[in-house]
Amino acid sequence: MKPITKSRKLADVFYDIRGPVLDLARKMEDEGQEILKLNIGNLAPFGFEPPDEIVREMAANLSKASGYTDSKGLIGPREAVVRYCGEKKIRGVTVEDVYLGNGASELITMSLNALLDSGDELLVPAPDYPLWTGAASLSGGRPVHYICDESSEWLPDLDDIRRKITPRTRGIVVINPNNPTGALYPPELLLGIVEIAREHELIVFADEIYDKTLFDGHTHKSIASLADDVLFITFNGLSKNYRSCGYRAGWMIVSGDRSRAGDYIEGLNMLASMRLCANTPGQLAIETALSGQHRIEDLVAPGGRLCRQRDLAYELLSQIPGVSVVKPKAALYMFPRLDPEIYPIEDDQQFACELLRKEKVLIVQGTGFNWKHADRFRMVFLPDETVLETAISRIARFLEQYAENAGRYIDQGNLVAHTGVEPVFRD
Ligand code: PLP
Repeated sequence: MKPITKSRKLADVFYDIRGPVLDLARKMEDEGQEILKLNIGNLAPFGFEPPDEIVREMAANLSKASGYTDSKGLIGPREAVVRYCGEKKIRGVTVEDVYLGNGASELITMSLNALLDSGDELLVPAPDYPLWTGAASLSGGRPVHYICDESSEWLPDLDDIRRKITPRTRGIVVINPNNPTGALYPPELLLGIVEIAREHELIVFADEIYDKTLFDGHTHKSIASLADDVLFITFNGLSKNYRSCGYRAGWMIVSGDRSRAGDYIEGLNMLASMRLCANTPGQLAIETALSGQHRIEDLVAPGGRLCRQRDLAYELLSQIPGVSVVKPKAALYMFPRLDPEIYPIEDDQQFACELLRKEKVLIVQGTGFNWKHADRFRMVFLPDETVLETAISRIARFLEQYAENAGRYIDQGNLVAHTGVEPVFRD
């Protein structure tokens, strides 16, 4: 019989955060092995709870939440998002410009499906949160990656962005604060991106899902607050700042210059209507969350749980020979570099699988974030300090063995011998 194959549209779509390495982890768990998971920014399994009042409000209203709502969402939560725009100094937004979705993810896919024709290009950061690249491909467009530069704290390289613009470029994605690097972009850099968007008539897609997950007293500037003559689509939601990933509550804001965008907005409305509406209990959580004070500030402040875990993970990783990492200013992730002189990794998915098999630690390989070189991985710093210590010490032990098997010997942090032997793992 003929095999049932997936559509060709999926040929270039990857989402390795939940890919083959996770499949292996599941198999190992089924066999009874215990895995230390540093792979995904899902807060609940690590004991981070949503604010009580959100849960109470949702539970109390559940019996009234069984109907479809308007396709853009209930008015109350959309008004709350409008007020939030006021706080973020995004001007001229009314409830008509706000769309509620089943997480930001659904709205990201929708916004690109409504825009991109075959061959249209979208500028996406490298490394990226891979949904953006996948959704651009799935919608028929072509993701074109611009470089974020580790040597300047992972800020986007504006010259690289300029070089990659063609007559087919329709928009530019800005993930700020950034997953996977933990970077936070200063206003000057954002203004540089706005200037490029203005010059080339590009839409700015701003993914700001971590805009309150900020360390060291940093503040976040919404790029959409920086101009009125550029079209901005801003994404946010409750998943991270309100520890509510599973409620699937997100929003999208259309702002700035909509004068040429009537047809695109019609497309957005059509797609919003086709999926009827976002889940109603999740919508109810938005208004309560945005009206309350229970954000993430206590967790990210000095001494707060997330801040302590970030500091510890940074310190422990930085102590491993040949590992360097930029200290995250925001979000939940680190994207460490493994010096290829010491760790000559050819296939980082295989590397992640070996780490998992040998040390039972689950990370995501760097190429899963559309990073070209096999010299990074992403880890979350969500587990508590004891688990982080164990996990990172296992990573260190694995790396030491990896280097040794490759004929690299490290003495007091320095590479002292290099035999050129490729790594072979012996169990
Ligand atoms: N954008 C970024 C940068 C993310 O890291 C994530 C989830 O990890 C999302 C969007 C998805 O958010 P949501 O849970 O609202 O779909």
